[in-house]
Amino acid sequence: MRFFNTYSRQIEEFEPRDPASRQIKIYTCGPTVYSRAHIGNFRAYIFEDLLQRHLELRGYKVHRVMNITDVDDKTIRGARVAGVPLQQFTTQFKDAFFEDMKTLRIKRADEFPAATDHHYIDRMIEMIGTLISRGLAYQADDESVYFRINKFPNYGKLAHFDLTQLQSTGRVKHDEYDKEHIGDFALWKTWDEEDGDVRWDSPWGPGRPGWHIECSAMSTALLGDQIDIHCGGVDNIFPHHEAEIAQSEGVTGKKFVRYWLHCAHLLVDGQKMAKSLGNFYTVPDVLAKGYTGRELRYALLRVHYRVPLNFTWEGMKEARESLARIDEWLTRLHEIAEKKIHKGEGKTQSGQQFEEALDDDLNISAALGFLFDSIRETNRALDQNEMDAASAKAWLNCWERINSVLDLETETKTVVPEEVAALAKDRENARCEKNWKRSDELRDRISELGWEVRDTKDGPKLAPRAAS
Ligand SMILES: [Zn+2]
Repeated sequence: MRFFNTYSRQIEEFEPRDPASRQIKIYTCGPTVYSRAHIGNFRAYIFEDLLQRHLELRGYKVHRVMNITDVDDKTIRGARVAGVPLQQFTTQFKDAFFEDMKTLRIKRADEFPAATDHHYIDRMIEMIGTLISRGLAYQADDESVYFRINKFPNYGKLAHFDLTQLQSTGRVKHDEYDKEHIGDFALWKTWDEEDGDVRWDSPWGPGRPGWHIECSAMSTALLGDQIDIHCGGVDNIFPHHEAEIAQSEGVTGKKFVRYWLHCAHLLVDGQKMAKSLGNFYTVPDVLAKGYTGRELRYALLRVHYRVPLNFTWEGMKEARESLARIDEWLTRLHEIAEKKIHKGEGKTQSGQQFEEALDDDLNISAALGFLFDSIRETNRALDQNEMDAASAKAWLNCWERINSVLDLETETKTVVPEEVAALAKDRENARCEKNWKRSDELRDRISELGWEVRDTKDGPKLAPRAAS
C-alpha cells in the first residue's frame, strides 16, 4: 500500500508502526461546532472513511479518533450572539454533525473527544506547562501563553514553509505585538470580557486553550505519543498541523505522525464555496433538492482525494445514474444467482483490481473504473444468457467486498406509487401501439410525479427522478 505523505511530498510505501499487530492509529481533525458543517467538510470526512474502510478490507484494525472543537473564537461568539450558554449552543451543531455523518454512511470514529471535557483541558494545561519548562513556550505581556517557534527547528517542515517569509510579510495586528515572533501561536488564551463565563483556571490565570493544543492533547491521550496516520483537509496543514507537530513532539520528544494525508478542496460550480456567492450547501440543502445521502456520498467519493472536486447539480445527476447502474446490475445478478447451480459452473471473482487500485494512494477513479467495466462486461454476458448461477454468485461475493469500502448499496427497494406504475403500464401499451404522442405525454406525466422511465433490455424500469 502506498500513500502520498504531505511531510515528504512523496508517495511512500505504507509501513505501520506496529506491523505484527496490524493495529493502525488514525487521528482526524473533526468539526468546529459553531454552524452546520458544509459539504466541503464532508468531502474530507468521506475520504477518511474510504481510507479506514480500505485499511480494514486489507486486514488492518483501525483505531480512529476524531475530535470535536466545541470551544474557540467562533463558538464563543456564536453563543454570545444567540444569548445561550456555550454548551447549549454547540450541542445542536454536534447533533446535526452526527445526523449528517449517518446520512452519508460515514463510519463513526472509535472516539469523539470534546475539547471542553475536563480530562482534556487538564492534559492541555499539563502539556503547556511542559513546553514552558523546556523553553518552547512563554507567557507574554498580554498574559496569553505562546509557542516559541524559533526554538523548534522543524517548524515549517510539514507545510514546506520558510519562516523568514513569515517575518517579512503582512501587517501585524495590534495584539500580535506581545509575541516574540509573529508566527508564535497561542497555546493558552487569557480570559477577556468577550469570553463571558467561558473560562478555566490555569497556572497562567483564567483563560481557554488555543485550537492547536486541543488536538495534541486529545491524540496523545487516546492514541499515545505516536500515531500512524493523521488526516485533515489541505487548509489544516498550516498552521494547525504544523503546530500539532511542534506541540506534541515538543512534549514527547518522539516523532508524532508517520503519514500525513490531506484532502483537497471542494469547489461548487468551479468556485470556492461561500455564503455570499449563494453556492454554500449543507447536507440538508442537498437532500431538499430530492437527492439521497447515498447519492451525495457517491458524488463526494468518486474523485481522487488529492484532486479538487467540483460539485455541480449535473454531477449529482450523474451520481444518481451511476448508482442506478449498480442497482440494476445487482438486481440482475440476484435473479440469476437464485437459480440452481450446476456442477462445474462458474469461476471465482476476486475483485483484486479494485483493491489494488485503492492500495495505490486510494485511487478511487481506477477502482470505480474497474467496477463499471465489470458491470458492462457482466451485463453483456447477462444479455446473451451466458451468465450461470455460480458466476452470478461469485460476482455478488466480489461486490460484497467492494461495498464494504464504498457502502453504496441501496437500503430499501424503491416503492413505486400505484398511480405511477399504472401510468407506466399505459405508456407501455401506447408504445406497443406505436402511439408515440400518447407515450410522450405519459412520460411527462410520470416525470411530473417525480419519476422517470428508463427503457431497458428487460423492459421499462421506474426510478425516482433527479431534481433539476
Ligand atoms: Zn486538529
